[in-house]
Amino acid sequence: MDRLRPPRAELEALTPYEAKDVRAEVMLASNENPANVPGELLQKFSERAMHIPYNRYPDPLAGRLRELIAEANGLEPDNVLVGNGGDELIFDLLLAWGGPGRKLIDLPPTFAMYGIDAGMTGTEVIELPRRADFSIDGDAVLERLKPGDVDIVMIANPNNPTGTLASEPLLIDVLNSTDALVLVDEAYFEFSRHTMRPHMSRHQNLVILRTFSKAFSLAGLRAGYLLAHEDVICELTKVRQPYSVNRFTQLAAELVFRERPVFEAGISQLLRHRDMLVHGLSALREVTVYPSEANFVLFKVAGASMVWRDLLREHSVLVRDFSRAPGLEDCLRVSVGTEEEIGRFLAGMDEILSRRHASDLFGMAATASRHTKEEA
Ligand SMILES: *Cc1c(COP(=O)(O)O)cnc(C)c1O
Repeated sequence: MDRLRPPRAELEALTPYEAKDVRAEVMLASNENPANVPGELLQKFSERAMHIPYNRYPDPLAGRLRELIAEANGLEPDNVLVGNGGDELIFDLLLAWGGPGRKLIDLPPTFAMYGIDAGMTGTEVIELPRRADFSIDGDAVLERLKPGDVDIVMIANPNNPTGTLASEPLLIDVLNSTDALVLVDEAYFEFSRHTMRPHMSRHQNLVILRTFSKAFSLAGLRAGYLLAHEDVICELTKVRQPYSVNRFTQLAAELVFRERPVFEAGISQLLRHRDMLVHGLSALREVTVYPSEANFVLFKVAGASMVWRDLLREHSVLVRDFSRAPGLEDCLRVSVGTEEEIGRFLAGMDEILSRRHASDLFGMAATASRHTKEEA
């Protein structure tokens, strides 16, 4: 057959998530930890990797890792679900609580995967945009929950890509006003140090998401986890891919989780670097910087997509371009890197903006002289 039957009609509206794998010398686009896993842990990975029975399927529920995570959070193992990155768990949540005829409340601008996964699962998305300062419009959310027809709410806290932390009383109000599942996505918990964990005992509908991809340097291995009521976890195990977390990832995540104090110094350093980054960006003319509780900073600059392109082409610095996203016109997001990476980014920004300023002045001079000639 030289023809192909089309896939589901819904796919027409979707574009592959970041299909292009752009490389640069300074990678500040994905909120990864700029440092690889510390050497002593890498050494342990490789020693243990020699003894993994790769011919055998992994433990579907990553039992040992699950126990460690449960214990650290004062919970039971059946309150924990490990996934192939947080992204897989978000998809599982929508498979189980979303679907045709069911509704998600999304608070854009926010993490794009919520809307994408809703689209893939046929879940209706109710968008309640954030305010101009990216805080959640609490009144709108509580009002929309009143009819009782919402099935799931997703709240990134701190929010990605804006870095905004939600007010805890508002999150509690949301939990109190609905029986919908409420995901509080704490992918940046290790940076914000804010968690809704203490509220789990009172709210059966609270689900917390964490990941090994950001603070713990394991973006390449794909591991994340949910903390939730055992009934929620039980439902999710019905829709999840049984062997999604491979043996090597389970082992590495276990070693990292056991040794997580080793990451503390690096996290504190990244927080200091974030302050440097905010300070440096604020000093630039024409840049508006938004406060962040995570390891990235959102900023606004006129002609953002041109700035993005010049950073990449001329300075080999890759940041994330959000300028086409609704509510984020002219916004770019830069991840907190090493001191050197931040230096290169800021130097690039300074060069691009000074050059633009110079050519603006030149352009004005040229226009002025043309006018003079035309008038003459
Ligand atoms: C990075 C991120 C995740 C999960 O990332 P994984 O690499 O799939 O674990 C989840 N939510 C938000 C808001 C994120 O920024």
